Amino acid sequence: MGIEIVRGDITAQEVDAVVNAANSSLLGGGGVDGAIHRRGGPGILAECRRLRDSSHRDGLPAGQAVATTAGELPARWVIHTVGPVYTTAEDRSHLLASCYVESLRVAGELGAETVAFPTISTGAYGWPLDDAARVAIAAVSETATSNVTTRRFVLFDSPAYAAFESALARAEG
Ligand code: ADP
Repeated sequence: MGIEIVRGDITAQEVDAVVNAANSSLLGGGGVDGAIHRRGGPGILAECRRLRDSSHRDGLPAGQAVATTAGELPARWVIHTVGPVYTTAEDRSHLLASCYVESLRVAGELGAETVAFPTISTGAYGWPLDDAARVAIAAVSETATSNVTTRRFVLFDSPAYAAFESALARAEG
């Protein structure tokens, strides 16, 4: 399927684009977002502010994606996407899938060949890991990408790695 899963830190990935589990404000947060801004330096936030002043006055809705510089990260671009907050009251998995699909679309527009993803929505936004892994693997494997050759999931801890490993094994059937 051309999908890689690795244990590691998204900010250390030597890829063309890393995906950020951002929030709608685009102005920073905790988890992956905090780590990306800390390690990437102020250039990323400066570009996010410019987006808020121009094309994204109301911020970025869940399920959409937008790119900025990656500042001092090894990557060239950060693709910011906003995961849905998990709730049992309604099924938001189409929005979670959309994060991956839209991030890949933006990566294709940029000309990125290698893209690294974190596990969107599984931290502060509360999505159960096994289900998030199933949605993520399905979305990425079903999305045709002309120039993106490497699609890598970067798992921060062993429960996340295990969830993605079994979701990938099931998808490969
Ligand atoms: P969300 O707000 O979309 O739920 P979070 O950033 O809170 O996103 O967390 C998403 C997942 O990313 C969590 O499972 C968390 O363990 C993981 N994570 C946190 N920091 C990093 C990092 N530096 N690299 C990769 N994954 C990370």
